[in-house]
Amino acid sequence: MFRALVVEKDADGATSASVQDVADDRLPPGDVTVAVEYSTLNYKDGLCLGAGGGLVRVWPHVPGIDFAGRVLASDDARYAPGDAVVLTGWRVGEAQWGGYATRARVKADMLVPLPAGLTTRQAMAVGTAGFTAMLAVMALEDHGLTPDKGEVLVTGAAGGVGSVATAILAHLGYSVAAVTGRPETEDYLRGLGAARLIARAELAETVKRPLEAETWAGCVDAVGGAMLARVLGQMKYGASVAAVGLAGGAALPATVVPFLLRGVNLLGIDSVMRPTPDRLRAWDRIARDLPMAKLEAMIRPATLADLPGLGADILQGAVQGRVVVDVN
Ligand code: NDP
Repeated sequence: MFRALVVEKDADGATSASVQDVADDRLPPGDVTVAVEYSTLNYKDGLCLGAGGGLVRVWPHVPGIDFAGRVLASDDARYAPGDAVVLTGWRVGEAQWGGYATRARVKADMLVPLPAGLTTRQAMAVGTAGFTAMLAVMALEDHGLTPDKGEVLVTGAAGGVGSVATAILAHLGYSVAAVTGRPETEDYLRGLGAARLIARAELAETVKRPLEAETWAGCVDAVGGAMLARVLGQMKYGASVAAVGLAGGAALPATVVPFLLRGVNLLGIDSVMRPTPDRLRAWDRIARDLPMAKLEAMIRPATLADLPGLGADILQGAVQGRVVVDVN
């Protein structure tokens, strides 16, 4: 038996979550069984924990799109019992049972070894949100961003993606302008390395002029919607925006003018189906370029029983930094 946060759906379609003991034979098929130590909370987990179950189609369900732990049993030559491993994405925790449990089973191809220099707890403080922030920074660098080019904007800065992006960029020598709707997070964001704060309201209005003053050398955008549309018109000539999230909406009420007249690039960032070589490169960069003291400052500890409440909070944009769930 193992312990898991199980989400169930009743005949009326209402969902409820509770911590339960579950038999091992209910684990999904896969070639590596993992004793999970830590999981975390991402926006998608909030959807799967919330009313209607979000992205979940089969019930009962164990959410948790990320986990880190040690291999218990493996049918794959790459992993042996005791090896420390990390899982993010691949639709684990959505299409199959995930990390909100003391035990998980997945295909070996979905795992990466725990990066050297990180603990399983630190890996989950990073989680999908932080891993995606690193992918976004790498994409901006691949498109020519360097610290001398000017300020880099991070939207949704006090959230998970935004916090990690801010800390990495500041560590790499970039001047970070952090957009937040929560002025009370100023000390927190400055502690992560933000050079200045921008009130969400300043970028909330829809596009009135397709081009505004050339302001940003790069952007990691966790918000999407009207804010992304505004930001596109404020990018410097040839600069890039890494589009990561939709916390502010999925619509993009923009014009193509910034692309045509300023050569602005809109770079799509997907973490879920990202091929393994990119994953290894990103985790290696995280171990090098994310200061662990700053990561520690982002952590809010939690247990499995806390998750339903925290899931509702993240959908409201009310979680600061990164939740780390000790599943045991
Ligand atoms: P969080 O909730 O931790 O962060 C989102 C932040 O966005 C909030 O903290 C808030 O920041 C800001 N925000 C929330 N609502 C609004 C709004 N209506 N308008 C403007 N800003 C808002 O979530 P994550 O950081 O985990 O994820 C951020 C986004 O990235 C989500 O949409 C998520 O689905 C997506 N994502 C995508 C991935 C990919 O592979 N592409 C992987 C991971 C996440 P503040 O209070 O500072 O304003």
